[in-house]
Amino acid sequence: MNKDSIDFNENSHYQLFLKQQSQQLEIGTVPYGSRIKKLKKLKTTIEITFRNQIIEALHKDLNKPRVEAELTEIYPIISEIKFAKSNLRQWMRKQKVDTPMSMLGSSSYYIYEPKGVCLIISPWNFPFNLTFGPLVSAIAAGNSVIIKPSEMTPNSSALMAEIIKTVFEKEDVALVEGEVETSAQLLQLPFNHIFFTGSPNVGKIVMSAAAKHLASVTLELGGKSPTVIDSTANIDKAAKRIVWGKFMNAGQICVSPDYILIDETVKEKFTKACKKWIEHYFTNTPKTSDSYARIVTQKHFERLQTHLENAKSLNAKVDVGGEIEADSKYIAPTIVSDISEEASLLNEEIFGPVLPIVTYKTLDEAITYINSKERPLALYIYSSSKRNTKKIIRNTRAGGTCINTNVIHYANHNLPFGGINNSGIGKSHGFYGFKAFSNQRAVVKQHTFGINELLFPPYTNFKEKLAKLTIKWF
Ligand code: NAD
Repeated sequence: MNKDSIDFNENSHYQLFLKQQSQQLEIGTVPYGSRIKKLKKLKTTIEITFRNQIIEALHKDLNKPRVEAELTEIYPIISEIKFAKSNLRQWMRKQKVDTPMSMLGSSSYYIYEPKGVCLIISPWNFPFNLTFGPLVSAIAAGNSVIIKPSEMTPNSSALMAEIIKTVFEKEDVALVEGEVETSAQLLQLPFNHIFFTGSPNVGKIVMSAAAKHLASVTLELGGKSPTVIDSTANIDKAAKRIVWGKFMNAGQICVSPDYILIDETVKEKFTKACKKWIEHYFTNTPKTSDSYARIVTQKHFERLQTHLENAKSLNAKVDVGGEIEADSKYIAPTIVSDISEEASLLNEEIFGPVLPIVTYKTLDEAITYINSKERPLALYIYSSSKRNTKKIIRNTRAGGTCINTNVIHYANHNLPFGGINNSGIGKSHGFYGFKAFSNQRAVVKQHTFGINELLFPPYTNFKEKLAKLTIKWF
């Protein structure tokens, strides 16, 4: 800890941290029933008490349509709680494992114990879901938690602070609002685990701060998720699902298809089908549609505008959309093709409603292209060829994959969710989230005379022979 830059005052983050730390053993040993009680209270508070306020806050911050707020913010939290409630007893049970013959006389098991005091830093694109989702796992695992939500969605963050105060004592769970500076201050404290959701660049800052205390980390990051469409794909169905996955929340989704890699023979057909589905979902003037969100801040609006201008200056073709309006931070669902390799659209995570299309001649070319980039959070495949699908999966690496659909792998709590290297470290959701916030403590119990005791010193010739026999037979 750099003691010079830490605020030790009465109401500081440091004092809050110490308070949580001093009570963590007590909180961490509460039985199954008490953890369930906390989860139930959180569920009722979100689902009933604050439901409408959540929807309003999301509308103010992101113009998030009501149905999207219900389905992509409230539902994932409630279903994560329900899943934990149904499985927590099993997860908390001691897990017996086999013991080798060389340890005859003993038995072995492991338990999941809480990591301790944890920090959750969350982003703005699904502020409630990506804050309360990991919180459910942290509580299920018996931890104390300090949360730092994003400063980009102030209405949502303020409401989350109120929800946390309603449900928890601050020794148990506390939420600290603030800018990047607040995050930086919190990162100086010796947390036992840090669960960060955000960009790869900030992920690196978080990981190096964690290294100072050897805190474990879960990093849920982003990046460019490719979508491969081969010539055997059902193009209309592919367009229907991709347009939904790409333009929901105005493309501000970590697992949205970042770019399309399509067999050149079906590109025109795909673009036409996308246009049809965009009109179907958002009418031919998406600006007036209640089903279409806005860009979160002026800064992000300008970032996307710069991407588009850069691509156009390099002779890219805008196939669909392209309209923008700075005052309302509106960017129409946009599809761009014939893009130069140097264009920023093909080199930085887009995180907005702009879909670049890159064509390929052979599947090998597409695979080489994917592997020339950072490992993605998601890789989507549209194909009716089992051979092609298998080939793509075997020859690439990604956090998760959907075949003939996109985004929805996020919603299955039985699957581990997370990235690989640049797109993340560690997994979340369901049991994987519980595991991320737990230490697997190994326990061996000696019952009777242990056969290994025959090998204790002094090391005679007989013991040397016994050691050799152990290597050979056990
Ligand atoms: P971000 O990295 O800018 O910010 C995330 C959080 O980190 C915020 O709370 C912010 O206050 C804090 N932060 C920002 N800069 C910091 C710094 N220098 N030091 C300490 N803390 C800092 O990300 P964002 O813009 O909020 O979200 C967009 C990114 O998050 C995209 O890359 C997206 O792909 C990714 N994301 C990933 C997932 C996932 O589950 N894998 C989900 C949503 C978003």
